[in-house]
Amino acid sequence: MASSGSESEKPTVSEEVDTRGKRPSNFIKEIINEDLRLGKNGGRVHTRFPPEPNGYLHIGHAKSICLNFGLAKEYNGLCNLRFDDTNPSKEDTEYVDSIQEDVRWLGFDWEDRMYYASDYFEQLYEYAEILIKDGKAYVCDLSPDEMREYRGTLKTPGKESSYRGRSVEENLDLFRRMRAGEFPDGSRTLRAKIDMASGYIIMRDPVMYRIQRAEHHRTGNKWCIYPMYDFTHGLSDSLEMITHSICTLEFENNRPLYDWFINQLPVKSTPRQIEFARLNLTRTLMSKRKLLELVQKKYVAGWDDPRMPTIAGLRRRGYTPEAIRDFAERIGVAKADSTVDVGLLEHCLREDLNRRAKRVMAVLRPVKVVLTNYPEGRVEELETENNPEDPAAGTRMVPFSRELYIEEDDFREDPPKKFFRLAPGQEVRLKSAYIIKCVEAVKNADGSIKEIHCTYDPETRSGAALADRKVKGTLHWVSAPHSIESEVRLYDHLFTKDNPEDVPEGGDYRDNLNPESLVVLTGCRLEPSLKNANPGDRFQFMRQGYFCADPVDSSPQKPVFNRTVSLKDTWAKIEKKA
Ligand code: ATP
Ligand code: MG
Repeated sequence: MASSGSESEKPTVSEEVDTRGKRPSNFIKEIINEDLRLGKNGGRVHTRFPPEPNGYLHIGHAKSICLNFGLAKEYNGLCNLRFDDTNPSKEDTEYVDSIQEDVRWLGFDWEDRMYYASDYFEQLYEYAEILIKDGKAYVCDLSPDEMREYRGTLKTPGKESSYRGRSVEENLDLFRRMRAGEFPDGSRTLRAKIDMASGYIIMRDPVMYRIQRAEHHRTGNKWCIYPMYDFTHGLSDSLEMITHSICTLEFENNRPLYDWFINQLPVKSTPRQIEFARLNLTRTLMSKRKLLELVQKKYVAGWDDPRMPTIAGLRRRGYTPEAIRDFAERIGVAKADSTVDVGLLEHCLREDLNRRAKRVMAVLRPVKVVLTNYPEGRVEELETENNPEDPAAGTRMVPFSRELYIEEDDFREDPPKKFFRLAPGQEVRLKSAYIIKCVEAVKNADGSIKEIHCTYDPETRSGAALADRKVKGTLHWVSAPHSIESEVRLYDHLFTKDNPEDVPEGGDYRDNLNPESLVVLTGCRLEPSLKNANPGDRFQFMRQGYFCADPVDSSPQKPVFNRTVSLKDTWAKIEKKA
């Protein structure tokens, strides 16, 4: 199913977006409340999340996961995980594994209810025979092209297949032989006998089974006929006693068919399909086909590349499950397609990290500072807070010495007005340490800066009587001999345009790839406490942003850091105004 394409529209923020901490509306809850009031399903609420294992899950799936598992939780119900695996050629166990990992990481639990549509192949086959025996399904020999031609259009009715009149006996015989492998791939199909003149094109004798010799990741070569999605999905819901089958809007037109199969067959339960608008995000592609292309053609380093909108990518980037769940809650659930600003997702992340990320000092583009009046060989341990937002986070000691590193852009030889950082003759405070004053910049032969000579004022040690002496700027720093050297990867949006599909005639989304989506810095200098960072640990590098130790490339004592998100929050301003 292709993703619905309101792609050329300007991004708008969903009306349902919650900007003031209010809970957004959720029309699905209204439907469920009404069903409960009417006593339907014996008061049960049972949902499912039904991914097809043909790719990694992305942030759009996260919305669906939070919705399905969230509703089950709220109504004291159940939510199943079901792999919708009816398309053997594209599916793989790598995807099955990653999907389980991602759903669990998001904080949800299917307990003992993990199912596969392929578990129902035998039962579905029996259902198909029932439909044949009831004269409601027939074997058709039209080629795919003929079938398309016979289907008609929205304005014109379709034409009945000449095979539609086959007897029940002939249909049963042919269908059994299809299963037995007597006919070549694609030569015949089993079709539901509904109405070639229906206003719903999907009801014009849709295909139920196709012949396809492909090894299935679970059933191997047992089957050479595979059921179609529309036949499989509703009946799988029914077999699992699902009460509310929540899917995205592009399935709205399929609903009559969903209901038709359930109504024709002796099923145990009658689930109800409800459609909601899929999530679209600015600067983000959500099509699995295109995400696969980015991976296969190596535009990114893999499904878990921190620039990917996949759950695996977001996790590696440093996203927290809490931030993603908060985002899903805030965007709400609507019936109309819209595009959400990726700034809102980042805002949710910053809010969460601000509460819990430990503040540390890391100099990404270092330049050396020498304190000429600080005794050689002396080292002081200075106390600094771990997180001003969280008193329980406590303090730690950072070493201070005669040679330090500061950020290259925190020094200017010819400062513009209002440059409250370091410049010849100017004073700044070093965070949790002393006030220093710049004396001069010492140059290399090529004119570049070798080191900056400063003096420190011993009276101004943080916490001492004179500590509050006014200076305008406070810089982060590390002690040169104590610091650790590390690689830091600065990630940015993968696309330069809000709508990655916005390209001139003949172009494609790849034209909008951001060449600066990854900048790798080596030789960064980090405070020594970061040596002990565990893969996946998250920090705020003061004045720089939130970072996490890369779970893949970090090794013991040698972390590599990913920038999760910068500190600048444009969404926070929007929220304040609202
Ligand atoms: P395709 O079917 O084309 O392979 P898909 O994105 O629909 O791709 P599924 O694995 O079928 O992938 O999706 C599993 C569930 O997640 C479905 O119920 C689907 O409706 C939902 N889903 C997929 N994309 C989004 C999205 N962008 N926003 C919300 N829900 C989504
Ligand atoms: Mg799908």
